[in-house]
Amino acid sequence: MNEQEKQRLAKNAKARQKLIDDPIGERARRALLARNWRKNHPDTSRKFNRERKGTGELSDDSKVLFYGYKEPLRKFEGGFGYSGVLRYSKDKDKVECHFCGRLFRAINNGHLMKVHSLTAEEYKEKTGLAQTTALVGEGTRLKLLERGHNPNYLEELKKAQERRRERIAKGLPDKQSGHKLSLERKNQRGTCPDQLLAIIDRTIKSYGRVPTEEEFLSFHSGKYMGSIRNTYGTWTNALAKLNQRPNNVKYTPEYLIEEMQNFYSVHKRTPRYSDMERGLLPPAAPYYARFKHLNDARLRAGIPLIIRYGRKSEEWMPTPNERTKMLSKI
Ligand SMILES: [Zn+2]
Repeated sequence: MNEQEKQRLAKNAKARQKLIDDPIGERARRALLARNWRKNHPDTSRKFNRERKGTGELSDDSKVLFYGYKEPLRKFEGGFGYSGVLRYSKDKDKVECHFCGRLFRAINNGHLMKVHSLTAEEYKEKTGLAQTTALVGEGTRLKLLERGHNPNYLEELKKAQERRRERIAKGLPDKQSGHKLSLERKNQRGTCPDQLLAIIDRTIKSYGRVPTEEEFLSFHSGKYMGSIRNTYGTWTNALAKLNQRPNNVKYTPEYLIEEMQNFYSVHKRTPRYSDMERGLLPPAAPYYARFKHLNDARLRAGIPLIIRYGRKSEEWMPTPNERTKMLSKI
């Protein structure tokens, strides 16, 4: 046995002893503390902050002005303001959402979808706004135009309005189509409705079943879900287009442990995080939610643990004695 090999074995033994003495380990313990702390303090969670940023402030009726609309105005039954009127606060350069009465620089799809489950098109339809009305404050609109791709937008809009007025005057139907991201642009991004369905279909095939939303997200590293929600509203609706039903698996700890044991008996090695990410096991998130550490789950499954020393990691099967000792410490 050469010197290098001896050193390696010494390091290995040290790491093993450390694991027996402290099966959770400092790093995992700190991560666990942080997880529990976030659970008990939902107001500091990233999700909460994201939503809080999007809620805007409530409008003060006296300060909310109107774009040049003519009275009398019809009260909007479903919430705030008036039908067919986008209320605008000039001093804040913000517009008011008809459904929650909050002020925004722009009422964007994120807010409409998340809070009111509406697309911008549906919002305009329900509130009686023209499909061509931008849901932004005047200042923001000018800024957008300044930065924008079409400096002649205002003139073109005026001309279009003129043509429309003429059409109506002649008694022709008032044709109006909503603006959407063009199909061509969506196609280039790989997010046109059919492409999204094809992606879901491919994912179902590679899983051999309908993946959970959680699994789909981790399989595509967070890509596509936003487009799916924008296009189809929800994951469930998108699946319905493929004649599939959602797979709302609730993973019990027993099931997760069993899956680890099955993996071990098939592959003759202990499962790792990467195996979960590749979809060979349930995703890592439920493991972390139900166990203190992946080694905690492996220990309970009675399969080898992973020990780390330096940049190396190795499988290690504890003896029954060591196992009981470790279980008592978890
Ligand atoms: Zn709102």
